[in-house]
Amino acid sequence: MTPNVAEHPIARLVPRETPGFDRDRAEAAVEDLLQALGHDTDDAHLGDTPRRVVSALREMLTPEEFSFTTFPNEAEYDEVVIVRGIRFTSLCSHHLLPFHGVADVGYVPGDRLVGLSKLARVVDWHARAPQVQERLTVQIAEELEERLAARGVGVVLRAEHICMSMRGARVSGTTTVTSAFRGELATDAAFRAHFRAAGMSDQEEPWRTS
Ligand SMILES: [Zn+2]
Repeated sequence: MTPNVAEHPIARLVPRETPGFDRDRAEAAVEDLLQALGHDTDDAHLGDTPRRVVSALREMLTPEEFSFTTFPNEAEYDEVVIVRGIRFTSLCSHHLLPFHGVADVGYVPGDRLVGLSKLARVVDWHARAPQVQERLTVQIAEELEERLAARGVGVVLRAEHICMSMRGARVSGTTTVTSAFRGELATDAAFRAHFRAAGMSDQEEPWRTS
């Protein structure tokens, strides 16, 4: 018998605790950084920058709470469900500069289906942290695997890293592709080929600004 929704309390993904957050200290540190870099913080456009930078970082690094709502798979759907082209932005752990792109997220259901928008929410939840793309990919896959008890999970991320285009190698227009496949999406070649075919092609990169 298909389990009842009531038997599966809705899981909530809540913001990570940041007990050490100290706004005054953070703002003073940004002002210090600007001055130590040789910039005049009395400049009309830099005066309020420490407050703005701290607010922006808090927003970008704090995930939004949401309910991971699932439903009984009454129709016994047993093919791949895929949401492709989920746009995301994150901050790279190494430079605190953005990387942004699209995620294709899919699964092969077991007894439960998940609300489709929740797949995008999971991507955003994990993206709002200092991240490396490889770890972000794995965390999204593991989160879905754990919460959904799916037969298979697949995640492909394509992103451009600003730390690569604005500094260092200064090459723009590159795409870093990472993937994580679990369960039957790792072991079943047909499922995996279907996932790849349904995902974004390298020619479709709508997040690009140039
Ligand atoms: Zn970086």
